[in-house]
Amino acid sequence: MFGNAPRAVWERWIPPDERHRIPLACRAMLVREPDGRQVLVETGIGAFFEPKLRDRFGVVEPGHVLLESLAAQNLTDRDIDVVVLSHLHFDHAGGLLSPWRDGQPPTLLFPNARYLVGATAWDRAQRPHTRDRASFIPALIDLLDASGRLELLTGDRSGLLPDWRFHRSDGHTPGLVLPEVPLPGGPVVFAADLIPGVPWVHLPITMGYDRFPEQLIDEKQRLLSDLVARHGRLFYTHDPDTALSAVQFTDGKFSAFDRIAAPRDSA
Ligand SMILES: [Zn+2]
Repeated sequence: MFGNAPRAVWERWIPPDERHRIPLACRAMLVREPDGRQVLVETGIGAFFEPKLRDRFGVVEPGHVLLESLAAQNLTDRDIDVVVLSHLHFDHAGGLLSPWRDGQPPTLLFPNARYLVGATAWDRAQRPHTRDRASFIPALIDLLDASGRLELLTGDRSGLLPDWRFHRSDGHTPGLVLPEVPLPGGPVVFAADLIPGVPWVHLPITMGYDRFPEQLIDEKQRLLSDLVARHGRLFYTHDPDTALSAVQFTDGKFSAFDRIAAPRDSA
């Protein structure tokens, strides 16, 4: 998760367990639009893995945590009007699928939603490189394609969510989409895998999964400079402790401040 940063540096930020694993979230963001529509940004890893793979990837929750979190808000997957996906890696889009059942193929959840996906990210999911092929779920791509409810995003705006803006980044995977939500307290950008958590706000820190780390750092610098100027905030999908923070540039470094802690047991 920390690319070329040595362990002596990163273990101070997120201490690993005895199997050298670190705790990570797969957090989704639910936005209620002024017109009453419910918009979900990403769906987390979900529960589609068979038990062997669930153990390999260290997925600790047996159930579909996102569906449980929606239920806590008196919502089901049928109530969601739009699902925005930053990209289609399994830890961001796996929650679109029904929980694993022996001998049964998965089905697509959120039957009333439009699925908004970047056109380049969609191309990548259909024709992955050997380097990231294992990060996609072929059955999910087929189900999305057949749903008739897939919307491909080509620019930085979508008619589905006219007040939102969509930043683009190619360093983690080609066509990563970072949705920006206008809120009264300032814009919030869902940072996806460009900045998966607070430690990655520091410019040189990248992930081993990133396809083009130098490009990612340049993109991160542009986004962070823009957000500092506009008093924007970042939403973190993988940070185990922090869901949201403001960003600042002091002493030549970007860092997070005004952190909002993650609710426990959230997806
Ligand atoms: Zn990813």
